[in-house]
Order: sequence, then structure tokens, then C-alpha cells
Amino acid sequence: MAAKVIDGKIFAAGVRAQVGEQVLRLKNEKNIIPGLAVILVGEDAASQVYVRNKHTSTIEVGMNSYEHRLDSNTPEVDLLALIDQLNNDPKVHGILCQLPLPGHLNEELVINSIIPEKDVDGFHISNVGMLATGQKSMVPCTPLGCLMMLRDHLGLLSGLNAVVVGRSNIVGKPMANLLLRDSCTVTIAHSRTKNIESICRNADIVIAAVGQPEMITGDWIGDGATVIDVGINRIPHPEKDGKFKLVGDVHFESVSAKAGAITPVPGGVGPMTIACLLANTLTACCRSNGLEEPEGLTA
Ligand code: NDP
Repeated sequence: MAAKVIDGKIFAAGVRAQVGEQVLRLKNEKNIIPGLAVILVGEDAASQVYVRNKHTSTIEVGMNSYEHRLDSNTPEVDLLALIDQLNNDPKVHGILCQLPLPGHLNEELVINSIIPEKDVDGFHISNVGMLATGQKSMVPCTPLGCLMMLRDHLGLLSGLNAVVVGRSNIVGKPMANLLLRDSCTVTIAHSRTKNIESICRNADIVIAAVGQPEMITGDWIGDGATVIDVGINRIPHPEKDGKFKLVGDVHFESVSAKAGAITPVPGGVGPMTIACLLANTLTACCRSNGLEEPEGLTA
């Protein structure tokens, strides 16, 4: 039987609607408007698109959006001064510095200069440590989106075998920690893993975050497994000369024939990432005002 396709566009629209309702409630009952500040250094084309999308989505849910576009030659000291100003601005509840940064800027230093409470990307070392030790933290948006979809599809994840393929700091590792926190038995696979196909075949859940187009094929997947494809790869279009198409890290057709459920690319995990950024900003706003956190929008 063909796998159920988990529609990330519909799911993300639901998350954004929930965020929008909570934002309205905050405005009406407490006169508080959550605010997200996004910093873009330089003119990277993909980053410009991401920042524009983040701005539009932030406004759409009724939050304040503060965009800071800096020249690619901006000295580190100026960027740190801006972050310091935003850290101390009570109107700003979330701060995100779009990555990658130009080469002369120390990414680690910049990320760790955002106070953990406003670090809506969840990349600050304190948030990484708190997630790893099972404490309340800001959780990276992409893994949070994957977790929400898994919980929605499977209910309780406790006891399930989950394989995360990829061990990056922004996807693989936080994803594994989140699944562990939900009491999955977690395996992290990477480029040196032996027998990776058979490890995946035994999994109830496979998360693909490798950045290799269509690497995971149907023969890697056990009957009925849930497959979440984080990958976004641009490859030459097979039928249209000079055009490109987006594919995931999973070979959709062959995996669909084995899996119980699968997220497509595009339209799966991608839309959830911005929705979770908005959810994180709302969570940060509630926490900073000593208010109850929105249910179902945090890990
Ligand atoms: P990274 O390049 O940082 O990490 C890739 C990981 O995959 C590494 O741990 C690497 O292993 C592992 N890997 C690479 N090749 C293989 C292989 N042949 N077999 C097994 N493991 C392998 O990527 P990211 O985590 O940043 O991103 C992964 C994918 O997700 C990309 O396609 C990216 O575009 C996409 N992405 C999508 C987002 C979304 O919003 N949907 C957000 C973020 C990322 P090793 O460590 O051993 O080198």
C-alpha cells in the first residue's frame, strides 16, 4: 500500500494559525505584541529569500518584525553591538542571525552573544546543553517541526526505534536529542556508519538529514516505517534542459511503496521550519512575561 503523505504545508498552516490566535489573545488580554528581530549580513541570494519569507510570515501572524540588513563588510564589533542592543530591547522577544555569515565573522561567537532566552534558532550553547540534558530550552526550528509531525502522525513515540541519518548541529543532533526525550531508542547514522541500510531497515522512524539527493531508497526502509525527509537538494531537471528541481534525501517513489508515511520535498519539513520559528518567538515572549507557554507549540 502506498504511504500516507504527510502534508507539511497544511500542517504548517495549522501551526501558524495557532500562533496567530495566541498572538491575538496576548494583544487583547495583556497588550503584548511578540517581536522577532532578524539580522542579515551581506547579500547571499538564498539568505535574502529566507529573510523575506520570515518577515512576511511574522507580520501575517500579527507579530512585530524588525529587520536589520548589514553590509557584507560589517565589522564584528558592530554586529555584536547590534545584538547587544536587541538583547536589551523589551519589544524584541526573539533574535535570529541568518547563517551563513561572511567569512570574517566568527559564527560561534555571534550565535553565543544572543541571550539564550531570545535565541529562537536554539543554537546558543546553553540551549544546546539544556536540550541535551532534558531541560526546558529553545529548540532548533527544523527538528521541532519534524517532532510535531511525528507526534501528530504516531501519537506517543515512546519505545519506537528511530534512526537519524546525519549528525549536524542544526538538524541531526538536536533531532536525536528530541527523540530521546520522547523515549525513542535512537541511533544516529553518518558518513562513517557501517551497514547503514540494515540499520535503517529496522527503524520505526527514519529521519533523513544528509544533503545527498535521493540517497535513501525503498530497500533501506522497513514495512510501514515513518520517513521524515529533511533534505533540500537542487538537481538538474531530468526533462527540462537548463532547469532545476528540488528533491529530498529520500527517493520518494521507492520509499513510498514501503513506508507507512512520508514527508514530500518540497512541501514537507520545509514549511514547518518557519512555522516553528514563529512558535519559538511566541514561546520566548510568553516565558519572558512569566506567562503560560502555548500548548502543542513547544517540545
Ligand atoms: P550537513 O552537511 O551539516 O550534515 C550532513 C550530515 O549527513 C553529516 O552528519 C554527514 O556525515 C551525513 N552524511 C553525508 N553524506 C552521507 C552519507 N553518504 N551517508 C551517511 N551520512 C552522510 O547538513 P545539514 O544537517 O545542515 O542539512 C541536511 C539536509 O537538510 C540538507 O539537504 C539541507 O539543505 C537540509 N535542511 C533543510 C532544512 C529545512 O528547513 N527543511 C533546514 C536545514 C537543513 P558526517 O558528519 O560523517 O560528515
